[in-house]
Amino acid sequence: MSTPPHDIVFLTSEIYPFSKSGGLADVMGILPLTLSRLGVRVAVFTPFYGRLSTGQYPVHLVYENCPVGYPWFDSTADIYMANYHGLPVYFIERGEYFDRRHYYCTHKGDYFDNCERFIFFCRAALCAIRHMGLGTRIVHAQDWHAALAVAYLAFWRRTDPFWAGMRTVMSIHNLAYQGRFSYRLFEQSGLPHEAWNMEGVEFYNSFNLLKAGVAFADRITTVSPSYAREIMTPEFGCGLEGILTRRKADLIGILNGADYAIWSPQHDPVLECTYSADQPEGKKECKAALLQSLNMRPELADRPVLGFIGRFRGQKGIDVILESIPEIMALDVGFIALGEGKAEYEAAMMNIMEEYPGRVVGVIGYTEEISHLIQAGTDIFLMPSRYEPCGLTQMYSLSYGTPPVATAVGGLRDTIIPYPQEGANGFVFNEPTRESLVQAVRQAVAVWDDKAAWKTLQINAMRANFSWEKSARRYMQVYAGLHADLFAQEGGAL
Ligand code: ADP
Repeated sequence: MSTPPHDIVFLTSEIYPFSKSGGLADVMGILPLTLSRLGVRVAVFTPFYGRLSTGQYPVHLVYENCPVGYPWFDSTADIYMANYHGLPVYFIERGEYFDRRHYYCTHKGDYFDNCERFIFFCRAALCAIRHMGLGTRIVHAQDWHAALAVAYLAFWRRTDPFWAGMRTVMSIHNLAYQGRFSYRLFEQSGLPHEAWNMEGVEFYNSFNLLKAGVAFADRITTVSPSYAREIMTPEFGCGLEGILTRRKADLIGILNGADYAIWSPQHDPVLECTYSADQPEGKKECKAALLQSLNMRPELADRPVLGFIGRFRGQKGIDVILESIPEIMALDVGFIALGEGKAEYEAAMMNIMEEYPGRVVGVIGYTEEISHLIQAGTDIFLMPSRYEPCGLTQMYSLSYGTPPVATAVGGLRDTIIPYPQEGANGFVFNEPTRESLVQAVRQAVAVWDDKAAWKTLQINAMRANFSWEKSARRYMQVYAGLHADLFAQEGGAL
C-alpha cells in the first residue's frame, strides 16, 4: 500500500466499483489507478455513501474527527480508506450528508441540500489533506461536486503558506451539470465576497459551482478534444462558453480510455461464451443466450439486434430512438434498451415493448451485469446523443464487436471511424433527428447483410484500442506543467 506523500489527489463524487451512476465513476475507477501504475503518487477522495459497494475492498477508519471548520460552526468528518489495487481511496464520512439511498436525487428531484453536501465534501477533503499530512501538490477536481475545492484553494493559497504551492486541475465530464444554487448558499460556502462576480462564481445571479472551478483552476481539462472545442461555442457551452473561451490557453481535451480489464469479451466473466477479434464465434452464443433470457424471438438470431444502454435523458437521444422505432422495426430487426431516467421515456419504452412483443425489450433499471450482456449480445449499438463529452459505452461496444451508430459529436467523433472510410468501425450522422437516425440504421443494416463487409467492420471495432495509459501520460504532462519537478525522478516517464 502506498503511503503519503500523495502528490496528486483526486476529488470525485463517484468511483467504480464503490459508487457509480455513469461514466465519471468508470473514469475514476481507472485513471488514478493507471497513474499510480505509472509511478505517480496519487490518492482519491470521495463521499462515504450509504450505498457504497465495498465488496472485496474493506474500508477502515484512518482518521477520526477531522476538523472541517466551516466558518459558521465547527464540524468534523471521519475519514475511511480502502486499498483499491494499491490505490488509496479515502471516504469522507458524515452520515447526515451521505448516508442516503441515492447519490444526488430521488425520483422526485435533487436532494434539497446538495450544495451544502458538496461544500462539506470539498472542505473536508482539503482539511484531511492538511491534517493527515498527505503532502499533496495538486488537487484534481472532477465535475461540479468537487469544483469548490479549486475555488477555496485559489483564495487560501494567497494568505496561508501551507496552501501556497498547491496547484489545481478542474476536469469537466459533463458541462450540462453545473451545480447552480442561490446566493444564500454562496454566503454559506465561506468563499470571500470578491468571488461573487461575472469572472468568478456568479452566473446570472446564481451560485455556479462548476463555474467556480473553471474560473479559478490552474488548468481545465475535459474528456475529449472535440468536446474541448465544442464547449467554447454557444451550442454546447451551456452558458459557460464565454469564460471557457477566455480560458482557452488552459483548456485541454484528453480522450478517456476504456478499462479493458472490465470491458473485454475475451475475459468477461458474465458472458455465456468469451470471444475476441481472432476468435469471434462466441458472440453468436452470447446473442442467442441474451435473446432467450429476454424471451425474444429466436429468428432474431439471423437478423440484426440493436442495443442501447444509457440514461433515459434528452442528452442520450433516447426520445429520438423511441420516435424512430416504427421505421427501424420495418427493417426486420430487434431492439433492446437498458436504462432509466425521465418517467415519460420509461413509459414510452414500455408501450413500445407491448407493441412489438418478442422484438423490442426495454429493461428499466441500472444493472451492471445486463449492460455487459447487451454489449456482447447485440449487433449494432445506438447512440444518437445530442452532445457527448466523451462517451464510454461506444468504446465498450467497439470492444465487444458491436459497431456503434452515433451522432458526430464530442467524443463520438473522436472514437468512431465512420463507414465507408478506410478502417471504419461504425456509422455516424450529423443531426440527432429521426430521419438521420433511421437513415444511418438503414445503412448499418445494409452493411450487416453483406457478411464480409460486416466482419471487417466488426474486426476493426474490436481492434480499436483506447488505452488509458496514453491518456494518463497526457494528464502527467498537465501536472508537470504545474510542478515541473513532479516526475523528475521518472526521467523519461512522460
Ligand atoms: P454518461 O456518463 O453520460 O452517463 P457514458 O457513456 O460516459 O455516459 O458512461 C455510462 C456508463 O454507465 C457506462 O459504464 C454504462 O455501461 C453505464 N450505464 C448507463 N446506464 C446504465 C444502466 N441502466 N445500467 C447499467 N449500466 C449503465
